[in-house]
Amino acid sequence: MNIGIVLAGGLILADPASPEVVPHGTTVISGNRLVLVNAPIHSQPPSDLVIDCSGCLIMPGLVNAHTHAAMSLLRGIADDLPLDEWLNKYIFPSEAKHVAPDFVYLGTKLSAAEMALGGITTFADGYFYMEEAARASIEVGLRAVIAQGILDVPVPDAPLPGSWRERARAFLAACPADDLITPALFCHSPYLCSPETFQGAYEMARAAHSPLFSHVSETAREVQEIKSRYGVSPVEHLRGLGILGEAFVAIHGVHLSESEMDLLAESGTGVVHCPESNMKLSSGAADLRGLQSRGVTIALGTDGAASNNNLDLFEEMRSASLMAKLVTGDPEALDARTAIRMATLDGARVLGLDAQIGSIELGKLGDLIVVDLDRLHLTPVYDPLSHLVYAAKGSDVRHVIVNGKLVVHDRCILTVDERKLKNAVHAKADEIAEDLGITAYGVGTGDD
Ligand SMILES: [Zn+2]
Repeated sequence: MNIGIVLAGGLILADPASPEVVPHGTTVISGNRLVLVNAPIHSQPPSDLVIDCSGCLIMPGLVNAHTHAAMSLLRGIADDLPLDEWLNKYIFPSEAKHVAPDFVYLGTKLSAAEMALGGITTFADGYFYMEEAARASIEVGLRAVIAQGILDVPVPDAPLPGSWRERARAFLAACPADDLITPALFCHSPYLCSPETFQGAYEMARAAHSPLFSHVSETAREVQEIKSRYGVSPVEHLRGLGILGEAFVAIHGVHLSESEMDLLAESGTGVVHCPESNMKLSSGAADLRGLQSRGVTIALGTDGAASNNNLDLFEEMRSASLMAKLVTGDPEALDARTAIRMATLDGARVLGLDAQIGSIELGKLGDLIVVDLDRLHLTPVYDPLSHLVYAAKGSDVRHVIVNGKLVVHDRCILTVDERKLKNAVHAKADEIAEDLGITAYGVGTGDD
């Protein structure tokens, strides 16, 4: 008799809100829900699929609360450049020429497969042609908040002024209705979206019961621009538009004043911290202590692979913690337990999904990962939680279960033909490189 998936043995971190690692007996997922959590080992029911977790730690799946998944096709295309040059010479021209439904499908599939193998079970994505991102994500088997990008400047899927409305409506109508997908909207930023666009997008998102995302105060320069345009700082500007609140997610929040942090806290607006992207683009360091002391919920995000350049949330936990210690001069800043909560339960909270995911709890959805602790770089083990943040890597994830389905088993992704995917990406990279007059390596390796 098959009752679903049975996990047996090892250690478990069930609730990141009060993180404690304890010996694990038996956990059972039936359908897409957890029906038994850390019961005694002798209560193990019969199943076709029993996963032996000896030497491993079971924990909630990681939540990558901000990325632009399709941009993995531009990974490493140009680095170590000033932001303007990076954007205008490489990213924007490549996007203008190549971003189309097939680009978004392929890039999102590449990213979703990478994220699955690294223990990310849910991601929040913002880009163009987002029906294609939803399709790729469903095929890989990840949970995703799929947000259609909105800008006032011409973009590949909305080239005419004001056509964002039509595009957003079309996306909301076409986005596949699937257990794994939450459709959403994504205003790029207060400097690339007018007050009218923000308000229109917010109303459309509210009517669809969808969250609205935006990059907010990523660089000091954009803060100055908003102040000179509107006479107030970006968060004050958004408050004036009636945008702040639990249905809105502010990404980055690097350059916030004390009063802006108060506004985020009072309104219950969640923030996504993307430390590696902020460091790589030299944007600055968000004041996490200021936000946390006010009770703002902070999630973690990788941002797109073009500015990271991978989608490993274990690295992001480590970078968040090390960055906080460096900028505060306090080694106690952002401890391992806080980083783990940000990468799991707080990520789910910011995305409005915490009633269903973010912890391993009876009745919640079956989204969990099994991390192999029996690795040289994780030996010995005094504190498994310290290891998760300061020593482990995405490649230490051994099994991944999303919505009650096994997506990664023994470090192999079950939903994707890796060779075929890589060959398709190499072929696309060759086209992109040719247009820019640069080289892409590895085209045509292996069988297709
Ligand atoms: Zn971003």
